[in-house]
Amino acid sequence: MVAIDTMMANRTRVTSAYLLRANEPALIETGPTSSLGAVLEGLESLGLGPNDLAHVIVTHIHLDHAGGVGRLAGHFPTATVWVHERGAPHLADPTKLVRSAGRVYGEGRMHELFGPVDPVPSERLRSLSDGDVVRLGDRRLDVLYTPGHASHHISLVDSETGALFTGDALGIHLPGVRVLRPATPPPDVDVELAVGSIERIRAHARSVLMFSHYGPVFEVEELCRIAVARIKKWADIVRGAMDTTMDLDAIAEILAAGTAAELEQGVTSDPGELERYEILSSMRMNAAGLVRYWQKREETLGGAAREGSQPHLS
Ligand SMILES: [Zn+2]
Repeated sequence: MVAIDTMMANRTRVTSAYLLRANEPALIETGPTSSLGAVLEGLESLGLGPNDLAHVIVTHIHLDHAGGVGRLAGHFPTATVWVHERGAPHLADPTKLVRSAGRVYGEGRMHELFGPVDPVPSERLRSLSDGDVVRLGDRRLDVLYTPGHASHHISLVDSETGALFTGDALGIHLPGVRVLRPATPPPDVDVELAVGSIERIRAHARSVLMFSHYGPVFEVEELCRIAVARIKKWADIVRGAMDTTMDLDAIAEILAAGTAAELEQGVTSDPGELERYEILSSMRMNAAGLVRYWQKREETLGGAAREGSQPHLS
């Protein structure tokens, strides 16, 4: 397998796609449309012409992973596009997906980071669910449904190497820093589901974790343990902060202060390297996702409605 740097936000080592060489070559993740040039160049340099790519699989439909899949599919007319069944309708018609991302990032920032989002023709889309297999001829990818970061998230296990493509299920781990940071964006992060998914990943990983952000991590046990501990800790900090304020900036500050020591454990404290985490998934976005998680949980548990329960975006 080969990593192709999708160069989101013109940064190296932030977002990646992976090419699996097989009788039926497969691309895992596409990056956003703004990454299309880098991905096309990467595939061409690996010798793949327009009719050579058989499969494109995305771990979930967030735009940094799948925003470019519609336009990429146009360049590879014989490729089949695979996505979790909950994500498939939104690749066929990205209207709601784009609206949701616009709320999370702001319209201007969304467009700047990701570019436009083209639909995938529905006849080229295939839906996946837990236990499915994508056959690539001489190797295959086994599908694990791993919700938590998003309800439409899958992870993939390569039959040949045992490598497990984690998408964002464990969070973000960038090679220049080597710190695992949870990714808990709105609208549907769910901490309990995320913990369950990390445990499944731990059980199925036979060799290496392949992060979409970014690259291989061989310390499977350690990373899974840290991922579980951190997402629980982050959720608890936000829950505690909500007792004193519902101002999102204030909650994000409390979360940043409460977790600052984690970044200090990295191999560098270079602000340029640390900034990469903020580009992908800012503290404010993570705080917003966790606030929403707790609010939804209270609603489903039938708890009394919290006074002034909407976070205000001052
Ligand atoms: Zn994501």
